[in-house]
Amino acid sequence: MQRFDDKMVLVTGAGSGIGKACAERLAAEGANIFAVDINQSALDALVTVLNEQGGRAVACCADVSRQDQVNAAVATCIEAFGRIDVVVNMAGILKFEFIEQLDEQDWQRIIDVNLTGTFFLCKAVLPHLVASRGNIVNAASTSALAGVPWASAYSASKGGVLSMTRSIAVEYAKRGVRANCVCPGEIHTPMIDALSFPDGADFSIIPRISSLTGMQGPEVVAGVVAMLASDDGRHITGEHVRVDGGTLS
Ligand code: NAD
Repeated sequence: MQRFDDKMVLVTGAGSGIGKACAERLAAEGANIFAVDINQSALDALVTVLNEQGGRAVACCADVSRQDQVNAAVATCIEAFGRIDVVVNMAGILKFEFIEQLDEQDWQRIIDVNLTGTFFLCKAVLPHLVASRGNIVNAASTSALAGVPWASAYSASKGGVLSMTRSIAVEYAKRGVRANCVCPGEIHTPMIDALSFPDGADFSIIPRISSLTGMQGPEVVAGVVAMLASDDGRHITGEHVRVDGGTLS
């Protein structure tokens, strides 16, 4: 399938995990990729491979929680490619902590990156998506839909992303712009490898947040993102798709 021939796709969090898999999948389907991440070396590695495979990919190191850096990234993308058709917002961070032990700094950083960063991107790209009649796919999470222990800040940020995405979908539907979310769960990425449980965590509630079919790689999310962002998803907006192996089924 070449559903993204001549399409220009901006992906955040493209240096790792699901964002990287989305950049690879959409590039394989013909997209030009503008890859944004806070990790320059990971971006360089990604765009080198994509360009060697015959695509056109540009790396842009930026912190999505900084509006000045987001605006500069979007301006650079427009300068390089002249348009934006699809935006995939995957940059995100997670830390498990009991709410009583969660300090304000950690709360704020998680909200700043996951929720405010997604807002900054959406705000900056929407005029370009109106021009291209494009669409957004945001990273929510199963934690936006059901209680996940030790993840109060993260869950609040992802619930916010889901609600904001629905709001954008309704606000922009008549201008030809779609906005959807994926809600991954138990996807094997560096984020999950780095995760540690707080001391005293009650492991008997882990099954509540576990997939019924085992952990999967990030490509299973990338395939759903590709469907939502492509013309196959043209009648879908304001929707979320769980990719969680039945965790919440
Ligand atoms: P990951 O850690 O492998 O990748 C996240 C990427 O975001 C990294 O490359 C990181 O450098 C980048 N990033 C972090 N902070 C940034 C910032 N301030 N500015 C720009 N880039 C930044 O994680 P992942 O598992 O691939 O997660 C991707 C998205 O999917 C996240 O939003 C995450 O919350 C969401 N998600 C993942 C899972 C899962 O099971 N892995 C489940 C639900 C939701």
